[in-house]
Amino acid sequence: KKLGWAVVGLGKFATEQIMPSFAECKRSKLVALVSGDRAKAEKYARQYGINSKNIYDYQSYDNLRNNPEVDVVYIILPNGMHAEYTIRGAQAGKHVMCEKPMANTVAECQAMIDAAKKANRKLMIAYRAQYEPYNLAAIQLAQSGKLGKLKVVTSDHGRILDPKDPADVWRMDKKLAGGGSLYDIGIYSLQAARYITGEEPTEITAFTYSTPGDTRFRQVEENVNFTLRFPSGVLANCTSSYGYSNTKRIQVFGSDAVLELDPATDYYQHRLYISRNNRREEQNIEEKNQFALEIDHLSESIMTNKQPKTPGEEGLQDVKLMNLIYQAARTGEKVKV
Ligand code: NAD
Repeated sequence: KKLGWAVVGLGKFATEQIMPSFAECKRSKLVALVSGDRAKAEKYARQYGINSKNIYDYQSYDNLRNNPEVDVVYIILPNGMHAEYTIRGAQAGKHVMCEKPMANTVAECQAMIDAAKKANRKLMIAYRAQYEPYNLAAIQLAQSGKLGKLKVVTSDHGRILDPKDPADVWRMDKKLAGGGSLYDIGIYSLQAARYITGEEPTEITAFTYSTPGDTRFRQVEENVNFTLRFPSGVLANCTSSYGYSNTKRIQVFGSDAVLELDPATDYYQHRLYISRNNRREEQNIEEKNQFALEIDHLSESIMTNKQPKTPGEEGLQDVKLMNLIYQAARTGEKVKV
């Protein structure tokens, strides 16, 4: 059996990564589209064999309530719209998958969790790396003691913000983006530190930097470097940038060995290396479609009535920590979590 999904927002990530991945899902099928652009929605409906009566716009979205074919809505809109469309989705009686970052503020995240709970629906945040085989292997290696005692985690996520790309235009607008590189990609560095250690940080220090006069960074930051202290003693050094060349890397330094994932959080073609006694060896792990795994995870959680692995609370924790990172950078002080 497959649950019916509606994709909300037909932008770059939805159309290039998520919609094609339904073909590899075992428990999920794409049955409805929500878009402000009827012609675009019609085109994709034809491509994916979706009945045109299952095309909605942002006004008729609430009418999903009357469509029993749709079990889950997947919110792939600009960050500042996640809260509204998650809450309206839950109120229409649908389970919700919401893209990262969960929302702009802690209050919005809490309202989303409350709305899903009130409607008795599941809410999952689309942290694809937590369903991706290379990252799962890295977590296993780090937490099983195979690297010895963990000392340091570093993670770097950066890319060039491109104002000519329509998908990057709203990312320069604080109301729609919530924050700068940290909200967009630095969140992967933060996630990595948390899932590799399996711990929650207790203290944070941070710096931000935006190139003076660069019009891309009028409202949102370019770079953030932050350090997290974990209860076990592990320190994580993380960077996030809209100014350095494409990087998606995690390194885990243990007393016996060092693990490198690079690229760590790409869409495909990850690489995992272990260095021990001055020898660096690549590990071979079977690549799988992380989007299909993530989508099916929510469908299976719904079918078996279990809490998904990355529920709303996981998204809220990152939004809370990102705001403490900004606070640490702003005040120049060490922030206790
Ligand atoms: P995008 O701009 O390509 O898509 C956003 C869609 O929202 C567009 O179709 C746009 O038309 C629509 N939209 C509706 N109202 C809008 C408004 N007021 N302003 C701007 N657009 C509006 O962006 P994207 O890169 O596809 O990102 C969408 C979401 O997906 C974001 O939350 C982003 O963080 C997330 N994302 C996640 C990943 C991942 O790997 N998990 C990758 C890329 C993006």
